[in-house]
Amino acid sequence: MQDKPTTTVLVTGAAGYVGSHTVVALLERGYGVVALDNHCNGSPVAYERVQKLTGASFVKVVADVRDEVALAHILSTYPVDACIHLAALKAVAESGQKPLDYWSNNVGGLLAVLRALQHAGPCRLVFSSSATVYGVPEFSPVPEAAALRPASVYGQTKLAGEQILLALAAQSPLSRLATLRYFNPVGAHPSGLIGEAPHGTPNNLMPYITQVALRQRHELSVFGGDYPTPDGTCIRDYIHIQDLAAGHVAALRHLLDEPGSFTVNLGTGRGTSVRELISTFDRVNGVCVPSVVVGRRSGDVSEYFADPSLAKELLGWCARHTVEDMCRDAWRWQLRNPEGYT
Ligand code: NAD
Ligand code: UDP
Repeated sequence: MQDKPTTTVLVTGAAGYVGSHTVVALLERGYGVVALDNHCNGSPVAYERVQKLTGASFVKVVADVRDEVALAHILSTYPVDACIHLAALKAVAESGQKPLDYWSNNVGGLLAVLRALQHAGPCRLVFSSSATVYGVPEFSPVPEAAALRPASVYGQTKLAGEQILLALAAQSPLSRLATLRYFNPVGAHPSGLIGEAPHGTPNNLMPYITQVALRQRHELSVFGGDYPTPDGTCIRDYIHIQDLAAGHVAALRHLLDEPGSFTVNLGTGRGTSVRELISTFDRVNGVCVPSVVVGRRSGDVSEYFADPSLAKELLGWCARHTVEDMCRDAWRWQLRNPEGYT
């Protein structure tokens, strides 16, 4: 399993949903990890679970990613070879209400990390971007070359992050920078020990489904039943969080081995409608998620899914888990952790 036993990776946002699964994937493959999080949306309990799952210890730093003193201390204390930068705020609607917080965290955080890494030597950085940078894609599957026109402040901060990386790569050819555009991450580690633990009412579909299935919420509102799709509901490219975590390791390995920078989609290439996701969830878990069709959610795109061929070609990575796996694992996590990390 070990491929880079002497490599140490700084993971920012490590206590969050993507972070906890990525740290497991790194530790399982023998990487050393320095985990940084300010716990504004992640829980330190996730770290205990990661440790239990892997039997590996790692360094934990509670700090804001914009804290340049903390970053300098980390980089002078630990032999960090690369950074996976995940720390960010991610709620689309909230980003319109708190634009300054989003620009500060998402762009200010990236700038702080890049400055600190550059001070220590050429940057090796994996950046979590999002398919939201495509806005309303003209067609699917969406290739990386598609037009970029994000419709939310959140998406604009991710696009700005990508542009910062492009500028750095142009100015500093020794830098190695990977931009990963995630489609819709769902599911949980198959152990049920780590998963997605949203605070308050979930914004995203899968955590809402699992909370309704557990009767924590009355019913699921399906936002729109009159889209130009086969069953009238929106189509997305759901990707298992375990595949996404493996995608980070594949991107990191490529950065460590090869010069240059790149941008890839991380998706399955398959679209699933809201109705299909609900019916698959019901079927594989033997439950019934009550749902009612309501009006469209403002800003929703009818259909999009990834063209993931570049990630396959460049990184040898492709998604392996099915929608059934995603539904099963999401439900196991919810059943074992009805209140999230408490
Ligand atoms: P998350 O909220 O679960 O994890 C983010 C973590 O970053 C949290 O633990 C939070 O406490 C931490 N954090 C936020 N701001 C920080 C700061 N200033 N300093 C230190 N720590 C900070 O979110 P996630 O789903 O794990 O997302 C991780 C990354 O992936 C984010 O950059 C997000 O924009 C991106 N992304 C997520 C999705 C998704 O649907 N989950 C999709 C596309 C892109
Ligand atoms: N959705 C829904 N009910 C919900 C949450 C989401 O019908 O309570 C729909 C939403 O309209 C979209 C799909 O589920 O078509 C995925 O939504 P999510 O917010 O998870 O991802 P995104 O829209 O950001 O791709």
